[in-house]
Amino acid sequence: MIIHAKEQFYLNANGLLDEKSNKNPKAFWSLVKKVMGKCRSTSIPPLINPNTNEISVGEKEKADLLNSYFCNISTSSDDGVTPPDLPLRTQHSLDIDEITEDEIKDILKSLEIGKASDIERRLNEDLQTLNDWSKQWLVDFNPQKTEYMVFNFRKDAQPIYLKFNGELIKKVDDHKHLGVTFSDNCKWIENILHTKLRHRCSPLKADLYRVNLVNDPSCECGCPLEDSIHFFLECPLYINFRNQLFKNIQHLADISIEHILFGTDEITVEQNTILFRNVHSYIRHTKRFFD
Ligand SMILES: [Zn+2]
Repeated sequence: MIIHAKEQFYLNANGLLDEKSNKNPKAFWSLVKKVMGKCRSTSIPPLINPNTNEISVGEKEKADLLNSYFCNISTSSDDGVTPPDLPLRTQHSLDIDEITEDEIKDILKSLEIGKASDIERRLNEDLQTLNDWSKQWLVDFNPQKTEYMVFNFRKDAQPIYLKFNGELIKKVDDHKHLGVTFSDNCKWIENILHTKLRHRCSPLKADLYRVNLVNDPSCECGCPLEDSIHFFLECPLYINFRNQLFKNIQHLADISIEHILFGTDEITVEQNTILFRNVHSYIRHTKRFFD
């Protein structure tokens, strides 16, 4: 029922967006606020199924979508052959229809994977199994195009080193798939804020004022209008962070609010990515939107 309600909600939201974006801006922004306003979740947002163009909101649907995506980017170079099963590492099995959250917690606790060296050993064993399988079945994986990311909230976490086919795999801090950027600190908040700033539905006072959520559009510094131009280019409260931002991006593009918010097609995707990372750092360091 919850999944059905969510589907209906997003379908209705889509219909309303189409209808209201031109005819009724006030209702449009009210709807945007309903959808985005309290978005502080680090869960995976609704995904669009590329085959049907339908929006998937259920956790299982999203998992299936990601699974099929990750599966179809690894293709066998030997058509018509059924790959063998990976050998089972355990005789245990889980009946996911009946297991409870507490039981899963107990199982995870019993794994004793607290030590980085243990995690590293287990992952390298799995990679070795995968490598043996790929050699047997002529499926090419390219270690240089393989990346790994560690999700860990412990500050004292030890680094781990993973090898595939004898080569060290590159560790990354974020990775983009299906338009979702996964970050190793699990914070996509800068991405979300950047998007909100682009669409003028951010928590900046001018944006809130425009949709009648505050009575006063002025900035804490005293400037009468706290819009994105003021936030990124003018506000005296963030001079040091701005100087750093400008220093980091001036070689990429002329400094303007358009380039800061939307990038530019005069530079490469990689250069735009660097530009946006610096913009995200600025958003984070100013602490304007969160502590
Ligand atoms: Zn200001």
